[in-house]
Amino acid sequence: MAVKIAIYPGSFDPITYGHIDIIKRASQLFDQVIVAVARNISKTPMFDESERMEMVREAVTEMPTVAVDSFQGLLVDYAREKKAQAVIRGLRAVTDFEFELQMALVNRKLDEHLITVFLMPHEKYSYLNSSIVKELIKFNGDVSSFVPPHVQEKLLMKMRRK
Ligand code: ADP
Repeated sequence: MAVKIAIYPGSFDPITYGHIDIIKRASQLFDQVIVAVARNISKTPMFDESERMEMVREAVTEMPTVAVDSFQGLLVDYAREKKAQAVIRGLRAVTDFEFELQMALVNRKLDEHLITVFLMPHEKYSYLNSSIVKELIKFNGDVSSFVPPHVQEKLLMKMRRK
């Protein structure tokens, strides 16, 4: 049987426990999960591509079937290049739905073989996103329940350098 590969794309600026929850669930379904850090994102990121990748890499060291990569351009082209059958997206709340549905349908239009799989995180992460973490850290808020210690450290270092 063919190896089942899924791509989990995102900006991961930075990776949070919400993302990690989704990666764990995806790795139960697929033989290989590639966390694909988007090289160019519309908003200016706090962390550059290599910093974002490094933080993801450290978060998945205990997950042998999870790989970390970066990509630019169309997700469907990248998925084809990686021979992936599926794209993973996380759905936190109804507010995510409209945008995610639109993306999934556009991607299906571009490549009908690529399947988008939506996974829901544990409800304790359903309000969490990277932007909230960045806002909190700016005002010295405690982010320890939102990101792993190595990410917290990187966030604090960024703040100190400013
Ligand atoms: P964000 O939306 O936090 O800026 P990304 O662009 O990195 O994050 O998101 C990549 C994917 O991960 C998207 O499908 C997004 O919905 C999902 N995701 C982000 N945070 C969470 C979370 N707390 N729980 C579940 N999925 C999430």
